[in-house]
Amino acid sequence: LERKRNLNSLMIDCLTKPMIQLLQKIGEVADEVPVNAFAVGGFVRDLLLKKRNLDLDIVVEGNGIEFAKHLAGRLGGRYRTHERFSTAMVLMPDGFKIDIATARLEYYEYPAALPTVELSSIKLDLYRRDFTINAMAVQLNPQQFGTLIDFFNCQNDLKQKEIKVLHNLSFVEDPSRIFRAIRFEKRMSFTMAPHTARLIRNAVKMQLFGKAADTRFFSEIRLIFSEENPIPAIQRMADFNLFQFLWPDLKPHLKVDRRFLHILLQAQRAIDWYRLLYLKEECDNWIVYLLAIMGRSKAEVLEAFCKRFLVPQKITDNLVWQKMHADKVANLLARRNALRNSEIYWLLQDLDIEGLLYVMAIARKSTVKKAVSNYVTEMRQAATLISGRDLMALGYEPGPAFKIMLNDLLDARLDGIVTSKSEEITFIQENYPLNNLPENGRNA
Ligand code: ATP
Repeated sequence: LERKRNLNSLMIDCLTKPMIQLLQKIGEVADEVPVNAFAVGGFVRDLLLKKRNLDLDIVVEGNGIEFAKHLAGRLGGRYRTHERFSTAMVLMPDGFKIDIATARLEYYEYPAALPTVELSSIKLDLYRRDFTINAMAVQLNPQQFGTLIDFFNCQNDLKQKEIKVLHNLSFVEDPSRIFRAIRFEKRMSFTMAPHTARLIRNAVKMQLFGKAADTRFFSEIRLIFSEENPIPAIQRMADFNLFQFLWPDLKPHLKVDRRFLHILLQAQRAIDWYRLLYLKEECDNWIVYLLAIMGRSKAEVLEAFCKRFLVPQKITDNLVWQKMHADKVANLLARRNALRNSEIYWLLQDLDIEGLLYVMAIARKSTVKKAVSNYVTEMRQAATLISGRDLMALGYEPGPAFKIMLNDLLDARLDGIVTSKSEEITFIQENYPLNNLPENGRNA
């Protein structure tokens, strides 16, 4: 006799009230359509771990697209569908997104002989997932609300803190799962089951990665670099010999050597430092790490990486530009001592925050780090107290000269030459005397 675990009380303990109400609503709509609806994947994993998870993935047995339309109607939200994959996304009025997939037996061509007839759709859906810890579901239909669906004894792996694939061909089917395995292992301080680790080593040996033309690789690499602390995962990638595949042109036999690790740690320090400033501008940490890894390489290596992993052109262009500009600036800053603030300002002002943190990561001199940190915290926000309007009030004729005058003034401000509005006015009047301007450069 199968005893099913019910997660109702766990949900009450761990989820917000609106989230529980949303799940109940999804269950009600499922009965109306009617379909079976389940919350699946990371949501269930993190619920069992009592961890916050803001993504909601729903799988329905039946027509997922139909279901999404009904759900959007009932929630007052919008929906978007991917007919080809029988998936949909429901966007709630408050911006919350619900991903909906259809569990369907007949479209899945499983490579090994499987007694498919015996599998319910949800069972097959879960069987196709990456790891056992992600292969559980919670049913949402009112009668079964909160019932945990665990066909493969996944709860036990979660308890044992093990990352385990569901079948031997998992990495053959989708090698990007290797990166996912590493990411989950390091994020949650789990361990890979020995057999799963062996399958990874085999997959690497078999050069399953030969064809990098799969956008999933880049998105998984990006997710790794976006983790709270990606360094253990990066070391694990090296441990699995993945560097030869990721960065074949970086250096033969590249390992996480001391210098490499040093740059990564410096990138992390810069990111942590920036985070603690609580500035409004978001930083894409993955860019800082990616640039740091390429810190000792030419821009062409980064470009080749982007090409290999089908990184969208716009992102590629930005990455390459940030790298080239940051490398140049880092060099200039290191070579010249006693730069004025205004000089530092104009050197750094085209870089994004990611490029700036990268400069901090590769800088060997503390003066360079200091210059950049100073720029981020102070200079970047600097502005003159007077504006074009004030210049007009002083009798100047608006035109391209205004920009030059105000930039000049900004320099003076950055270098501490002027500190108040009246000093700014005096500075302008002394450096751009009205009677020296041609007659038509003056206000009537
Ligand atoms: P995170 O906490 O990082 O968001 P997640 O488990 O929610 O982790 P997603 O990438 O959002 O990860 O994927 C959602 C679910 O889809 C996973 O839990 C997993 O079951 C399944 N999944 C995602 N990618 C794959 C894959 N490459 N192969 C098989 N299943 C996958």
